[in-house]
Amino acid sequence: MRYAAPKTIKEAAGLLAKTKGQALVLAGGTDLLVRLKGGMIEPDLLVDVKRIPSMQSVTRTAAGFRIGAAVPCVAMGENAALKKAWPGVVEAANLIGSDQIQGRCTVVGNLCNASPAADSVPALVAAGAKAAVVGPKGRRTIAVEDVVTGPGKTSLKKGEVIEAITLPKPPPKSGDAYLRFIPRTEMDIAVVSAGVCLTLGPKGVIKKARVALGAVGPTVLLVPDAADAIVGSKLDDAALANLAAACEAACKPIDDKRGTIEFRTEVAGVLARRAAAIAYQRAGGA
Ligand SMILES: Cc1cc2nc3c(=O)[nH]c(=O)nc-3n(C[C@H](O)[C@H](O)[C@H](O)COP(=O)(O)OP(=O)(O)OC[C@H]3O[C@@H](n4cnc5c(N)ncnc54)[C@H](O)[C@@H]3O)c2cc1C
Repeated sequence: MRYAAPKTIKEAAGLLAKTKGQALVLAGGTDLLVRLKGGMIEPDLLVDVKRIPSMQSVTRTAAGFRIGAAVPCVAMGENAALKKAWPGVVEAANLIGSDQIQGRCTVVGNLCNASPAADSVPALVAAGAKAAVVGPKGRRTIAVEDVVTGPGKTSLKKGEVIEAITLPKPPPKSGDAYLRFIPRTEMDIAVVSAGVCLTLGPKGVIKKARVALGAVGPTVLLVPDAADAIVGSKLDDAALANLAAACEAACKPIDDKRGTIEFRTEVAGVLARRAAAIAYQRAGGA
């Protein structure tokens, strides 16, 4: 197995594209090294992207925020402007693992590991985040919800690397939130999770919303029916009940020792309601 630590994204994409056999990006390594040491993968080449300057920082842009793909999640929580604009995204990123994991893990690694239970992904999807991809054929931008195609699978083509995640500038009176259910207080994988982002119009009426659910399908689910259930409302009890019902209807969870289908389905509705209430309050609603 070879290891490379290029200084540019073009070089990284070139190395990944021309290697015969398995060539993988190494970011924080908190998923990759576990799989490597467990004998689950035997890559021919690891391309460490942590030395690429364009991937190392969180920047505020005219359009919003750009989070370099090698930025450890802890640094997201230390960025006051990002935390203020996107508290739900930052909370989700900061829920991953322990302090030690936080110092290494990235939201792009969380996304590209392609677990349906990845904590940062529902929050990113709800926020309308996009992935800036660089590959042998140039650059493209894709919605975060289009990156993962199934457990362990992404839509990235050979040689493609995500350079950054971009978040829009939240419109005035917007708020987001992320909640997960785990059977203990931390260091566990979400049994169910929900991310909600919403924007208020006059008099506290919701004019735009996005709702995403984790661990209740093969990929994180964007649920437009759940968003429709609360748009036009002041998040009253009826709207919350409709939101929960739409979330339950969208769930296609597996049954395993961590949660039954019935449990995951019901909790998805409960978490979406609670996350919506937090997002509403953050947006300046009552
Ligand atoms: C003790 C422990 C606790 C954990 N707790 C949680 C938790 O609470 N919640 C949670 O969601 N996860 C958890 N995880 C899983 C893991 O920490 C996260 O998924 C983390 O965000 C992965 O990021 P990374 O940078 O370490 O990714 P890596 O391990 O470096 O990479 C993961 C995958 O993404 C690919 N990849 C990475 N960067 C790029 C890129 N720029 N372009 C294309 N592909 C890329 C890699 O090739 C690999 O396939 C935990 C792991 C451990 C070991």
